[in-house]
Amino acid sequence: MRATLFSSFVPLLWILAAAQVSALEVVIPLEAGVVQVFVFDEAEGSQHSHAGPAGDPCGDGSTQYKLLRVSWGAFPVNIHYDGGSLETLAAGGADQARAAFNSWDAQEHPAGAFFLEVASAADAKVKVLAGPVDGALGTLAVTSYSYNRFTKRFIEATVTFDTAESWGILAANACTASGSSFDIQNVGAHEAGHVVGLGHVSDAQQTMYTYGSPGITKHRSLGKGDQAGIDKIY
Ligand SMILES: [Zn+2]
Repeated sequence: MRATLFSSFVPLLWILAAAQVSALEVVIPLEAGVVQVFVFDEAEGSQHSHAGPAGDPCGDGSTQYKLLRVSWGAFPVNIHYDGGSLETLAAGGADQARAAFNSWDAQEHPAGAFFLEVASAADAKVKVLAGPVDGALGTLAVTSYSYNRFTKRFIEATVTFDTAESWGILAANACTASGSSFDIQNVGAHEAGHVVGLGHVSDAQQTMYTYGSPGITKHRSLGKGDQAGIDKIY
């Protein structure tokens, strides 16, 4: 069913891409009261870095955030990392994905663990994996989630890193774009932000900035707005 839904998106994706829409959200009603949303993350964007507080060479940016207005209601949320596919992105890819989710978990909202890793995908509400999305560039990763539109609670979410991209584990604290590889943890932290309930912002210092760029790792750590956003939700 997932594959069928996916193929039906392609023409829409092309149309919106041609119109230079920067980020795409596709909302599909599933069954009564359940809605599935796909957030497509685009590859390239302008870079503008500004000086930040001491300790973060890339800066923490503004307090800007956007809410998806969907949240988790019970904790911890079981999460499964598909090591078999994530390790094909780069050796150590699964640990990079774990680190990406841990950057949000470390905010301690709610008190205690946000996510709990489970060994079986069947037991997980959040699945993190790598697979084909749309070929090289374009969309780097997709977070899809379903939620109950009456309670506004998440039901499940899946993060898929596009296997067609050039992935790597890059040097820490890289503030500007360089090279051609995308940092797994950098992109993963952004996708994890969708999973906790945040949307895109225009401030490039925030992890929830709309675009990813090759070479940068500054979105591994949360900006002021990212932290304000998760504070607001939980
Ligand atoms: Zn995104």
